[in-house]
Amino acid sequence: MKKAVYPGSFDPITFGHKDIAERALKVFDELIILISTNPNKKHLFSAEERTELVKKMLDGAHDRIRICTNDQLTVSKTMELGATHIVRGLRAVTDFEYEFQMTHANRALEKRIDSVFFMTDNKYSFLSSNTVKEIAEFNGDLSNFVPDFIAEKLYKKFNQ
Ligand code: ADP
Repeated sequence: MKKAVYPGSFDPITFGHKDIAERALKVFDELIILISTNPNKKHLFSAEERTELVKKMLDGAHDRIRICTNDQLTVSKTMELGATHIVRGLRAVTDFEYEFQMTHANRALEKRIDSVFFMTDNKYSFLSSNTVKEIAEFNGDLSNFVPDFIAEKLYKKFNQ
């Protein structure tokens, strides 16, 4: 059984993340969404909130998806979960340099784990959680980027 992890902040999850997860499920039998809880990173949503949003967006849609939080190195958690690959998404060339560094760092740490990259549908190639947060801050239309239940949570955060 081919098992992979898909690590990220998911702050919040967007249609771009979902697109990558669906592509990965065509290659892997099980996909574990690894939500990073790095306390040094500033997040808009808490780990619990991010988990809830990922669950609502993906869990019900697929029985081969699991969701976990992670406060360790990605490769350590990947080994612990018995997965063999790390899935990441590529939007544009700008993602490449960071992903290149991360992949080689991860390989130096654990050579049994490899990384696999998927490209999203063109319509999500500019979409990031940060873009979504910036639009929400000014009450812009989020319907092309996140489902309504996430848009509502975002507007609420910025109008508190
Ligand atoms: P990070 O905190 O590592 O940037 P993110 O939650 O932003 O994590 O993203 C996790 C992964 O999903 C990364 O590989 C990122 O490139 C990918 N990703 C996010 N949004 C998109 C998108 N719109 N299209 C393709 N990949 C994406």
